[in-house]
Amino acid sequence: MQENDRQREGYTLTGAPARYGGGLHPLGQDVLAWLTPNGGWGESNAALISGHGASLLVDTLWDLPRTAAMLAAFQPKLESAPIRQLVNTHSDGDHWFGNELVGADEIISTRAAARNMRRHGPGQLTFLHAVSSVFRAMSYAPIPKRRDWRAAADYFDGILRPFDFSMIRPERPTSTFSGKLQLNVGGREVQLIDVGPAHTSGDLIVHLPDDRMVFAGDILFLGMTPVLWDGSARNWIKACERILALKADTVLPGHGPVTDLAGVDGVRRYWQFLRSAVRLHFEKGRPATWAAQHIVRSDQFLKQPFAKWDGQERIVINVHAIYRRLLGRKRRVSTWTRLNLLRQAAVLARKLAED
Ligand SMILES: [Zn+2]
Repeated sequence: MQENDRQREGYTLTGAPARYGGGLHPLGQDVLAWLTPNGGWGESNAALISGHGASLLVDTLWDLPRTAAMLAAFQPKLESAPIRQLVNTHSDGDHWFGNELVGADEIISTRAAARNMRRHGPGQLTFLHAVSSVFRAMSYAPIPKRRDWRAAADYFDGILRPFDFSMIRPERPTSTFSGKLQLNVGGREVQLIDVGPAHTSGDLIVHLPDDRMVFAGDILFLGMTPVLWDGSARNWIKACERILALKADTVLPGHGPVTDLAGVDGVRRYWQFLRSAVRLHFEKGRPATWAAQHIVRSDQFLKQPFAKWDGQERIVINVHAIYRRLLGRKRRVSTWTRLNLLRQAAVLARKLAED
């Protein structure tokens, strides 16, 4: 498999040096993780939980070639324990666009995630690609801020380049829940816990009590700045606290290497810090983008462990999300708003690299 080869050689899908091993990673008794270093845009993780004669897959990947490579690596296990159920932790495509390859009897998500997935599809990424071409053309025109348009085009292309979004036929959840759902996977108890809206409007975590394991989806990014789209920082902190209360020994993030409760606590601290820092700027009436640029360069921020995480530019997306909540706006952000926030993140990434 091409992906495996590239990961074995120690590189990410974008060709950066990998900080941890990718591909198949056994987590315990009949639990296999699939890791995609370094946990950046679309570099998501998934997991296979197997019991007697049946398996549960937690998430698929962003495109069909990556999902096929993962399923091929899981194949020896699937011969005795085929995938009966597939869980999608939330509505971002890097956790469900490969669903059609699984052939599960049942696809499960939270009610809120399923609602969001009806609006999201691979077409949005084709659109992002088109927007990137427009931005690149603008960067050659005699207009102000040409470098910003080029930075955005480079950033968007960098996100999309390793993936192939053609041929995807979105296969959406067949059953939904809110609150809690208990499953029996070939005799193993598996709990699905609805913890959203946090990263998106409908996030769930998967708890395997007998093995003291949690599959956190995008409630957890490790070594990588998390992204707050439609949820709330307050709920994200609560979601982290719920994972901490489960006292798991092993936690698989949606992006990043396998961790434990210390990793969960690190993400909780990021949101606690950001919430209070943002509130101060909000109360002084400062614009959100200005606040993000100021916070990420502040001495208090730079002293924190999370100042070393990758993707610091995502703070601009996060600060805008916290501002929206402080303004009492709870509606999900439009595709245009998302695009504009990604463009602002690209510009901030360039500025931070030049600092
Ligand atoms: Zn993700």
